[in-house]
Amino acid sequence: MKIINTISEMQELAGKISGSGEKTAFVPTMGFLHEGHAGLIREAKNYGDKTVTSIFVNPVQFGPNEDFEKYPRDFERDRKIAETNGCDFLFYPDVKEMYPDSFNTIINLSGAAKKFEGAARPGHFSGVATVLAKFFNIVKPGYALFGQKDYQQTLVIKQLVKDLDYDVKIVVVPTVREQDGLAMSSRNTYLSPDDRADAPLIFRSLEKAVRAIEAGERKRKIINAIILSSLRGSAKFKIDYCLSADAESLDEPEEFVHGQRIVLLVAAYLGKTRLIDNMTVPIPSAIAGNSGGFVPGV
Ligand code: AMP
Repeated sequence: MKIINTISEMQELAGKISGSGEKTAFVPTMGFLHEGHAGLIREAKNYGDKTVTSIFVNPVQFGPNEDFEKYPRDFERDRKIAETNGCDFLFYPDVKEMYPDSFNTIINLSGAAKKFEGAARPGHFSGVATVLAKFFNIVKPGYALFGQKDYQQTLVIKQLVKDLDYDVKIVVVPTVREQDGLAMSSRNTYLSPDDRADAPLIFRSLEKAVRAIEAGERKRKIINAIILSSLRGSAKFKIDYCLSADAESLDEPEEFVHGQRIVLLVAAYLGKTRLIDNMTVPIPSAIAGNSGGFVPGV
């Protein structure tokens, strides 16, 4: 595995790869890699002839009171994990390389990017879109892989690629979880043992709502209340949002309908650690003659 620190070297390499008719599969990360990232790197090998992983804690996607400074970093450990999982090129630029003092462009987003996570963390998705716009021009990938863990981010990225005509296919990979259901995250290392013990309640609360939907519940507010009352099982959570929406548009209808896919989204603090998680649930299509009620087994 080769380590690349400069944009010019990465661009030259990307040119050589595409010049020889090969495709690159790209996995952008902020490092402190865990099994969720490792799974993305392994999956990338099924898409590209060459795989590039980036490690870059992107300052422009952090708010002024967020954890940019204390975000966990361990390059040596990341290097080993990336290599073991089959990464060909590790792109590891520093902040000045990506954002020289003269840097003056930020991508502005509207629509669904302004909701939920976008509202809770103003500027966050603009920062994500900006760094990815740069990465796509630097790495020139045919494929870019992202985790469902950051569900709304995957929608923002698909919109970015569509709107700015990037010739890259976005692949979304399911969330990798700890044994007890907690979604893996570099930020889980912040959790105290007590908070870590309560953290899987997010997963269990989402599962409760999934089961209710599968049993026929269609009313958005009732679905939201199921997640909320379950999360209230621990007094430690400070809930940022917990809601359900159309999985594509993020619209919030009174009632979901057949054929729609629902996304359940949670963001909550345990102590100072902000955790996010989600699940998607398809509502089966109605069968002929059914007036819209739930049909078990359909
Ligand atoms: P991050 O380093 O947190 O910016 O994440 C880099 C990529 O890994 C993003 O596409 C994330 O969605 C993805 N990712 C993070 N955690 C997980 C997980 N538990 N399962 C699957 N993908 C993940």
